[in-house]
Amino acid sequence: MKIGAIEVNGEKCYGEVRGSQLHPFRLDGKPVTDLISVIEQRDDLKTDDKGLDLNQYQLVPPVGPLRKNIFCVGKNYVDHSKEFAKSGFDNSAADLPSHPIIFTKAPTTLAAPNDAIRAHADPTGTVDYEGELGVIIGRRCTAADTGTAYDYVFGYTIVNDVTSRELQRQHGQWFIGKNLDGYCPVGPYVVTADEFGPLDDIWLRTHVNGEERQAAQLKDMIFDVPTIIATISAYCTLEPGDLIATGTPAGVGIGFTPPRYLAPGDRVSVSVDRIGELVNTVV
Ligand code: MG
Repeated sequence: MKIGAIEVNGEKCYGEVRGSQLHPFRLDGKPVTDLISVIEQRDDLKTDDKGLDLNQYQLVPPVGPLRKNIFCVGKNYVDHSKEFAKSGFDNSAADLPSHPIIFTKAPTTLAAPNDAIRAHADPTGTVDYEGELGVIIGRRCTAADTGTAYDYVFGYTIVNDVTSRELQRQHGQWFIGKNLDGYCPVGPYVVTADEFGPLDDIWLRTHVNGEERQAAQLKDMIFDVPTIIATISAYCTLEPGDLIATGTPAGVGIGFTPPRYLAPGDRVSVSVDRIGELVNTVV
């Protein structure tokens, strides 16, 4: 099932996406305004026969409200890890991580498909894109093992882990450079794990103004999804609705010489097979 969320009369409204229409979910006759209810009461959901034309409504992030920060994995593709190490912006220890590097983004970073990325929010002028697969947790999960970790996945979405490179470098710890308000567009949809299928052959691509910058298969991750879930849940209980951004492949702006940062007017698109395309424009 493909799940989306739109704003209707000032309220978030989740539903099933069929073609260009969103068919609102209902629980006890009421619209569903949070993803946790979609996940936990999936069997009780009713879906309106009548769809709403997605072109007539503003898409909002198909996640949330979030119970905790968005988990993110740093340096999780070999070629990106090397380009980051070479860039001079990397203050972590090694070219290739021996263990998953986990940092977080606050819920205030969340942005919708088509929302503007505010370049002026970064006084250093070093805004960069990171196209990533997002994983949404479906069941409470403590100390998952890698053999069964996929059982805890509800579905997948697309994340753009927008970053100020200079703030990331200046502050040592990555939190500041990764946590500017609105610097985490998510969407356009969530595809449930049963419909998404195996990850290996899925491509992730990022385009800036139509030029392909990132293209990788999800099987190229250094730490795969089960390893990421096992690593985080060993120490921190994961709950339904939690979002994990699984890291970005090579081709970010700082991978170029000189770096190619985002500028007002740029159009950034991140696409993942079977989910769709997450588009945001820089202002
Ligand atoms: Mg990232």
